Amino acid sequence: MAYSAPTYGNFEVVIGLEVHAQLMTKTKIFCGCSTEFNAPANTNICPVCTGHPGSLPVLNKKAVEFAFTAALATNCKLNLNSVFSRKNYFYPDLPKGYQISQYDKPFCEHGYLDVEVGGTPQKPELAVTKRVGITRIHMEEDAGKSVHGQGFSMVNLNRACTPLIEIVSEPDIRSSEEAGAYLRKLRAILMYIGVCDGNMQEGSFRCDANVSVRQIGATKFGTRAEIKNVNSFRFVEKAIEYEISRQIQVIESGGKVVQETRTYDSGKNITVSMRSKEEAHDYRYFPEPDLITLKVSEAEIERIRKTMPELPEAKRDRYVSEYGIPKYDANVITNSKKFAEFFESVVKVCGEPKIVSIWV
Ligand code: ADP
Ligand code: MG
Ligand code: ZN
Repeated sequence: MAYSAPTYGNFEVVIGLEVHAQLMTKTKIFCGCSTEFNAPANTNICPVCTGHPGSLPVLNKKAVEFAFTAALATNCKLNLNSVFSRKNYFYPDLPKGYQISQYDKPFCEHGYLDVEVGGTPQKPELAVTKRVGITRIHMEEDAGKSVHGQGFSMVNLNRACTPLIEIVSEPDIRSSEEAGAYLRKLRAILMYIGVCDGNMQEGSFRCDANVSVRQIGATKFGTRAEIKNVNSFRFVEKAIEYEISRQIQVIESGGKVVQETRTYDSGKNITVSMRSKEEAHDYRYFPEPDLITLKVSEAEIERIRKTMPELPEAKRDRYVSEYGIPKYDANVITNSKKFAEFFESVVKVCGEPKIVSIWV
């Protein structure tokens, strides 16, 4: 039977994902400090990224190019004018007291990714293509990092002001499998185009999962919980599965799911409440007065478009037509740039693509 999203008794699941991807620039988004990951604490910092009064941000051109490349690779509509905004909140690792982000005028919107779900190595014919909408992508700076010891805490601001894109999906995802497929595809694309190293341990690619359940046939979405910063695909899938059963249990025992932020404990395989959800108005967004409107020309976008390498889907279709290997296999191979490069170099040496694809 062809794939359809799973249901849980009388319930179905609605998921939207927010992905933060760190852009691979050498320097930070609003200052010239290095973005090197392993530098000693608080060595890659300056008055701008530590939020000294009177310091001024200067936008990194390379970060903008990378962000626009990501937008083109995810089928987004680009906004030639976009605006940076201040998102105000207090946190020890955010000395400025606000994060420079984009709010009502992000640089791109209305994209999508097509992902393959439902197939297995034994039954590849069951795979179907599912389209997941991308609401928007915006640029922002990262915060620093709090490091907790016994009885004290320290803050490392090396990461403050490193460039991120946040990719927000539509609530189109209907299972943990679909969520995993979307994340793997998105990470592969960002790595193909060379804008993100995809390193989940180092936090270069991290995901917040918004999960809700509703009665099958209901037209309105249920109340969602947001699971923060899960740092592996398997954990995202497991966190979602746990969250689905938790929410169904709450509803079936007569309770109400509350809108809140939760964290995933991988040791216990549960999600735990962190705080009630803040709303956009709590952040008092306003346009960043120290940066002007970001204007990008059609010509500049064309120039960026021409630098785009072959993306996973194009590569997959080429493998099918050029090498005659099954679409399912081609999809698995092209979902990782390194894997695809390995496959192609082996084929070059031994000239037997079908056999190589089976081995790989
Ligand atoms: P916020 O910044 O408050 O997290 P957004 O409104 O931008 O908010 O939504 C964040 C994510 O939540 C999006 O990916 C969206 O698709 C998803 N989402 C919104 N409503 C629901 C819902 N009822 N169930 C699951 N996901 C949802
Ligand atoms: Mg959110
Ligand atoms: Zn700096």
